[in-house]
Amino acid sequence: MASEKEAALAAASTPLDSPTIFDKIISKEIPANIVFEDEQVIAFRDINPQAPVHIVLIPKVKDGLSGLSKAEERHCEILGRLLYTAKLVAKQEGLDDGFRIVINDGPKGCQSVYHIHVHLLGGRQMNWPPG
Ligand code: 5GP
Repeated sequence: MASEKEAALAAASTPLDSPTIFDKIISKEIPANIVFEDEQVIAFRDINPQAPVHIVLIPKVKDGLSGLSKAEERHCEILGRLLYTAKLVAKQEGLDDGFRIVINDGPKGCQSVYHIHVHLLGGRQMNWPPG
């Protein structure tokens, strides 16, 4: 398996509006361990977890939001919804002592899937600074 950095560099060369693996998770074409789903957001366990709890939250409709750097005013509602849902899922996962939220953006941010997503990480002591 390619490292996260290699995957991020490879992904950066594909058009931002291309379908991604997350479309197939939304449509249930490929299986995922889904922990939360409503009309706007779907949350599933990361295939390559970086913590005992590692969940990815995505909007069901991409609407041009390949990454946070592409956000426009109209995306404010879904961005807030993603963060609020992350809090709900953290509670659901029993992360009562804390957790971390990460949004990777672009090649230098190590983004490998160009459909905006929030990582929810927990279940261990986090360190700072991140790598
Ligand atoms: P990024 O690196 O873009 O911030 O995060 C993308 C995340 O999606 C990575 O942590 C990666 O492990 C995860 N991922 C990529 N493909 C799949 C998949 O097919 N299923 C699941 N559950 N996670 C995936």
